[in-house]
Amino acid sequence: MPARRGTRSRRTPQPRPSARIAEPTDSPAAWCEADWSRFLTDRFELPIEVSFGRSRSAPVQARAFEAADGQTGWQLRLHRMFASAPEEVRDALAKWLRAGRRARKAGPILDDWIHDQVASLPRRTAKVSIEPAGNVHDLETLALPLIVGEFANDFRPRGPHERPRITWGRRARSKSRRSLRLGSFEPESRVVRIHPVLDQRAVPAWFVTFVLKHELLHSVLPSSRDAKGKWVHHGPEFRGRESAWLEYESALRWERQNLPRLIRSARLGSELRARPEDLIVPDVLAVERQSLRQHELPF
Ligand SMILES: [Zn+2]
Repeated sequence: MPARRGTRSRRTPQPRPSARIAEPTDSPAAWCEADWSRFLTDRFELPIEVSFGRSRSAPVQARAFEAADGQTGWQLRLHRMFASAPEEVRDALAKWLRAGRRARKAGPILDDWIHDQVASLPRRTAKVSIEPAGNVHDLETLALPLIVGEFANDFRPRGPHERPRITWGRRARSKSRRSLRLGSFEPESRVVRIHPVLDQRAVPAWFVTFVLKHELLHSVLPSSRDAKGKWVHHGPEFRGRESAWLEYESALRWERQNLPRLIRSARLGSELRARPEDLIVPDVLAVERQSLRQHELPF
């Protein structure tokens, strides 16, 4: 009976021949977008439309939509690595979608698998545009004292690490109302990106330097797993070095006091108004600068 056969094939999706050829023999048969859509729609009894994307930083993205019959469904964008997800991971994704953080076992299964997959993806060959010169702050100028100072023994020629490339991030409006990532380090391309919301007169250079320094520290102290297998991004060595920086406390305070304004500025594209207190260089930095000057050679 055709209807029956239809149902069966929904439950056991057939791999596409081209995908099967590309797969190593021991990996699970690839699922196309339609296979995933059917699997999740069956599981949730809701319309779920899956499409594949290439975002490594957000490999699972979901958005509600209204289906033709008025029912609320989900549009799910999965990184294309999910085409070859093993059954355990498919199941974990479904559970995690349903329960979120309450999915105690499914969450870590999914996290670990995604992390391993991302690590095994080929390095991106797409050209990264590097633009360290901003409208107000020049990241290369800010980085220079760090490269010859704090990181002199980390980066080549004296240290083991290749110096990352440094750039302002893409100048696009942020959508989030609650958080803002001021900087990032991408290990594959070794690129440090600083959020362009910091490229404003009202943001003190010493604070931009602090964010830059934090990301440069990520480039020499890679994230690792703890005894339970959980990822640690800011381990004891990281925290130790960072908290020894003279401007550490002042920078955290400035961030705390200004984050809501920064979030708004990034979201609306509006300029941050400079406040008199932002023009004051913290005492600790003024002292450091003075002592540096005293050590300068007399020529
Ligand atoms: Zn960090």
